[in-house]
Amino acid sequence: MDKINFFKKNRINVIGGGLAGVEAARQITNFGINVTLFEMKPVHFSKAHKSENLAELFFINSIKTNSIENAGGILKEEMRLLNSLVIEAADNTTVPAGKALAVDRDLFTEYITDSIEKNSKIELRREMYTEIEDDVLNIIATGPLTSDELVNNIMDITDQKNLYFYDSISPILNSDSIDYSKVFRASRYENEGEGDYINCPLSKEEYYTLVDEIIKAEKVDLHEFEDTGYFESCMPVEVMCERGRETLRFGPMKPVGLIDPKTGKSPYAAVQLRMENSRATMFNIVGFQTKLTYPEQRRVFRMIPGLENAEFFRYGSIHRNTYLRSPGLLNEFLQLKNNNNIFFAGQITGVEGYVESAAMGIIAGINASMKCLGLKQRPVPAESSIGSLISYISGFSGKNFQPININFGIYPDLGQKLKKDKKRELIAKKALDSINDYKSVLSSQSF
Ligand SMILES: Cc1cc2nc3c(=O)[nH]c(=O)nc-3n(C[C@H](O)[C@H](O)[C@H](O)COP(=O)(O)OP(=O)(O)OC[C@H]3O[C@@H](n4cnc5c(N)ncnc54)[C@H](O)[C@@H]3O)c2cc1C
Repeated sequence: MDKINFFKKNRINVIGGGLAGVEAARQITNFGINVTLFEMKPVHFSKAHKSENLAELFFINSIKTNSIENAGGILKEEMRLLNSLVIEAADNTTVPAGKALAVDRDLFTEYITDSIEKNSKIELRREMYTEIEDDVLNIIATGPLTSDELVNNIMDITDQKNLYFYDSISPILNSDSIDYSKVFRASRYENEGEGDYINCPLSKEEYYTLVDEIIKAEKVDLHEFEDTGYFESCMPVEVMCERGRETLRFGPMKPVGLIDPKTGKSPYAAVQLRMENSRATMFNIVGFQTKLTYPEQRRVFRMIPGLENAEFFRYGSIHRNTYLRSPGLLNEFLQLKNNNNIFFAGQITGVEGYVESAAMGIIAGINASMKCLGLKQRPVPAESSIGSLISYISGFSGKNFQPININFGIYPDLGQKLKKDKKRELIAKKALDSINDYKSVLSSQSF
């Protein structure tokens, strides 16, 4: 299929009318291109979706902070610059919630549904999409609960091993917040690089106290559609503890092969931290995927020696979540490398969260429009939050790809040492400047 044919058709399919799909649809129509937006509700509801409206928010109506002192706030500001429908709707349906941007859920989804329905360039088809058409550009934005039929089709085009059905996330920490006087670098096995891991040594008493606190801690309830069968392959740390107080010591906390240089001996147990990105700004706590509530993770995991003041870039979790192993599969334009008529957007790309998902919709919409019009696609600048998320999901080179939310650990290195506040201020400035540049480049292209 060549671009001339696409241009004649002047139509792009967007599959899924969630947060990412509506963003993609708006961006495409801004380029004068028609959209067919497929949304299976209300004919078919997933086990978690309840509303007939588009861009449904699940259980929580907060889309987190608006302040650009925070990475989530910078991301939202970038999206405002790019004419985001989701942020526009949020700004118009906000309810008081301190620094957080919380919305009236019904008004928010009505605002978006209304905007899509009134857009004469969008044909909204309330039907389940099952077979990916190959004579038109497609953006697949069907989210964490993509219908089974489409999942099968996606597996055919991406290779089965590249699709996951649950995420299993260990907490990620800011490497600057680790107390290096209490930990040591060493790997358990010879084939692992010297010093790949940071080890937090625990005495016998510290180990059992930690295990007992994990067992006692408050947990998030499973949703009715989340069975526990998956726990065998990615068992939450609390379930390991409940199976026996020694389980962790023979599992992720085993001290085998680890000698603490301070004592010259193996500790009773050790928590290992593994580098999450090549710049070593983020470390994850190995094997600590969990359903502990966020405040409990903060309280209990800070009992680990060396982590007393740990700053959590991302808390641990386990969810039902359909997502791609995007590194190697998607390029920087969110296109399948082996079939660049197919774009992905939203949570299915391996980002996590309402706002992050919507942001991927904006970019897939822009890039699909560029391709449809035969124009050069432009990478989103790496300095921006959106560019950093895309670099992460398309370029992650570690072993265990897990969904990522926006956080200060994923922006490029600033190349200078600065205090935390100044550093964040500079990140925000560079990010917003770069998105303004990106916008200018896009609008300078002739249509
Ligand atoms: C139970 C649950 C709770 C969550 N809670 C939060 C939270 O509190 N905060 C947060 O930030 N994130 C939360 N998330 C993550 C959340 O899913 C994403 O942040 C966001 O909704 C993803 O946007 P999306 O557009 O990718 O997918 P969705 O918003 O799920 O949209 C996908 C749309 O595609 C439709 N669809 C699926 N298959 C087909 C098909 N074959 N044909 C046509 N339409 C189809 C669906 O009906 C849906 O409307 C939660 C996820 C789940 C599963």
